[in-house]
Amino acid sequence: MRTIVIGGGIAGAAMAIALQRTGHEVTVYETYAVPPEQVGAHLGLAINGLRALEGLGLLKEVQAAGYPIERMRFFTPRGNLVGDAPRLRRETDSLRSVVIYRGHLVGILRRAAIDAGAKIVTGERMVNASESATGVWAEFASGRTDTADLLVGADGIHSTVRGLIDSSAPRAEYAGLYGVAGVSNMTGLETGIWNLTYSRSGAFVHTTIDENTQWWAAQIGDPVKPDMRGIDDAEWLRRITELFPEDMPQAIIGSATAIVSSGYLSYLDPVRTWHTGRMVLVGDAAHPVGVGHGASVSLEDSLELAAALSNAPTVPAALQAFDAARRPRIERLLKHGNNARETKRPSAMRRQIDLAKMRLVLPFFDKVQGYMYDYQPPALPAVGKPQSARH
Ligand SMILES: Cc1cc2nc3c(=O)[nH]c(=O)nc-3n(C[C@H](O)[C@H](O)[C@H](O)COP(=O)(O)OP(=O)(O)OC[C@H]3O[C@@H](n4cnc5c(N)ncnc54)[C@H](O)[C@@H]3O)c2cc1C
Repeated sequence: MRTIVIGGGIAGAAMAIALQRTGHEVTVYETYAVPPEQVGAHLGLAINGLRALEGLGLLKEVQAAGYPIERMRFFTPRGNLVGDAPRLRRETDSLRSVVIYRGHLVGILRRAAIDAGAKIVTGERMVNASESATGVWAEFASGRTDTADLLVGADGIHSTVRGLIDSSAPRAEYAGLYGVAGVSNMTGLETGIWNLTYSRSGAFVHTTIDENTQWWAAQIGDPVKPDMRGIDDAEWLRRITELFPEDMPQAIIGSATAIVSSGYLSYLDPVRTWHTGRMVLVGDAAHPVGVGHGASVSLEDSLELAAALSNAPTVPAALQAFDAARRPRIERLLKHGNNARETKRPSAMRRQIDLAKMRLVLPFFDKVQGYMYDYQPPALPAVGKPQSARH
């Protein structure tokens, strides 16, 4: 069965591995031609995402390219500890969450997809697609066209495929927050800890990678979308030094050696229609569950869709089965993602309420958030076994 995947990010590259291993002939089309290693800041992978990577055969490689993070700590603007909890795992999980550069993760996934036999075509932006009862057709900005049995839209929160599946689908909007990420060299901090300081401007996160290195990200609340064109590293440092006057952010920003990325955070209303008969959305295109979990859930999608396609008699039946299986978990995660984003908005009153809530909730962290990490990926049938969803 031939499958076109639109988007060569985390969801698209993982999808290509899972589908190729279950007998599909996959071509991934990606807009940007730059090597993935050069794109983006760092991100955290939760235990459920690591289990999905294990299902894809890449857990060890990703662990080796990233850093284990043991715990997370939350601080008031004055630097008082609000709470301490295991980072992106249950207390009893033996696996440790991993922080890794997004580009390194995408690079590992793309290489594995190519090793599994997938084609990855970069520099091609899909602009249109349509389907018939027997196949799909896709058109690219270059004029190139392609056909297949299935089209997977892994084209991110600003997805084009989403609007082709349902013209009334929601569009992503500026979430009232923007982010700047960087690297600092400071000594004397405990390693393997993710720290979040609530600030008057938003939230400041620093993760201690080793005894000398901190990867940090400032999320700044601003109801008016700022113009970020032409801001150089020195100007970013000047701005965030001013925006985050609290002691810990000041110390980290003061030791900065590089700015690695900046960008807007977007919000998407829930997407009711994830698929037609032969087109389906995965990853952020379908459900941006939020900073901290979106990558892990995108990795889950790849195994879930590949399993549905292996087990159902037809492509349309497989897409329906995928939707039915994923909805309950995704809806729960979306609700959590919305709450987490709201706590980063700066408002003195709301901050006091959020901190009070957090103090109450953190002792019951496993009970409240444990379901996120309990995910067990489906086993994929070995290549060579008969594939059910052939048409
Ligand atoms: C500031 C920030 C921090 C985050 N931190 C974390 C974190 O710590 N942990 C975590 O799990 N998640 C995190 N996330 C969320 C995570 O980044 C996303 O959930 C994840 O990247 C989704 O992957 P994706 O492949 O679905 O989409 P994307 O990563 O957006 O990839 C989509 C790809 O499709 C390509 N594309 C788009 N349109 C087309 C087209 N028409 N034709 C061809 N190609 C196209 C794009 O170029 C891109 O490469 C964070 C997000 C943000 C904004």
